[in-house]
Amino acid sequence: MNSNAQAVWLDAFARSADDSDGRAPLAATYDLKPYRLAQLYRAATKEFAADLDEVTTLPADLRRRLAADGLRLESIAPVVLQRSSDGQTTKGLFRLRDGNEVEAVLMEHWNDRTTVCISSQAGCAYACAFCSTGQAGYTRNLSAVEIFDQARFFARELKSRGKKITNVVFMGQGEPFANYDAVMDAVRLLNDPNGFGLGHRHITISTVGLVPQIERFAGEGIQVNLAISLHAPTDVQRSSFMPVNRKFKIGELMAACAAYVEKTHRKVFFEYVMLEDVNDDDASARALAKLMRGHLYHVNLIPYNATPDAPMRGTGDGRIRAFAKTLDDAGVPTTVRTPMGRDIAAACGQLRAQTQPRARAAV
Ligand code: SAH
Repeated sequence: MNSNAQAVWLDAFARSADDSDGRAPLAATYDLKPYRLAQLYRAATKEFAADLDEVTTLPADLRRRLAADGLRLESIAPVVLQRSSDGQTTKGLFRLRDGNEVEAVLMEHWNDRTTVCISSQAGCAYACAFCSTGQAGYTRNLSAVEIFDQARFFARELKSRGKKITNVVFMGQGEPFANYDAVMDAVRLLNDPNGFGLGHRHITISTVGLVPQIERFAGEGIQVNLAISLHAPTDVQRSSFMPVNRKFKIGELMAACAAYVEKTHRKVFFEYVMLEDVNDDDASARALAKLMRGHLYHVNLIPYNATPDAPMRGTGDGRIRAFAKTLDDAGVPTTVRTPMGRDIAAACGQLRAQTQPRARAAV
């Protein structure tokens, strides 16, 4: 697994020059010994070097040659950085080499916990009605390194302040399980003890509910957390604002989750965004409790970050508390998520929506 992460990174680095098509592997082109490759990989993934100049373990003439050939350590460049007024949330909009833009968000909690929320695709094809990214449509998958570099950016920023990333969540733009292989490679890059070194248990993948990939993920043998964007307890409700539910019904989704727990003995987290008069009544709470009861499941109730282009409003605090109490009373472990970064439009897709025109329609 370790060498695998390094191979993924070095392969992307070798292709990072604009004219890299058909280029021979790095080691052969530059006559690099394995320890040189390891130094390069380590500088990028453990020291978070942004520029070849910073990789002082390599001889200066080699650094110059690599740079002159157009090889670059960074696959993304920050375009906009916004910090919330309380200083706890920093949102970045990043430009990819082809001009597409994606967002990532750093949340610094009151304790020493820091969570980075990263994107796995430019845009998203799943068109959930309440989600800003979903409204803008799908553009393309990100590569493993483009995903990883979002975490690397914030790791570097935190390091300058003596802090570290403690958690990474795949809850930015895109559907991670629709870009499965790159996301798994990004997990390898995040986890590699010789590199970034973030424990699997500190990584969470959130999916809209793609059943075949949930089944595949159950077989990975890794301790990465799984979160399901459920958002409604009945097919009629869920299909009305999450088109994916027409393909994978709640029964099938819940069966895949039960099988996942049985195989992995790991808890599944269910996200439930609270939408006024859509999914927030007592009957919905009771139906949700029924789906959850008796399993190793945890519900995260998410206060909605209203987006200008969505037709929905968020549920008020009192109703959220009542909803949570119904779940609590039924014995379902429930957390109400603390909203962060509302003043900087930090919900999925909101910043990109402000700066980029709509992508082409969902496919
Ligand atoms: N496609 C994946 C991951 C990206 S969305 C998924 O569906 O899980 C990450 C989470 O943020 C999902 O639970 C999503 O439903 C939620 N979300 C999206 N827009 C939101 C908003 N405006 N306010 C609150 N939560 C939102």
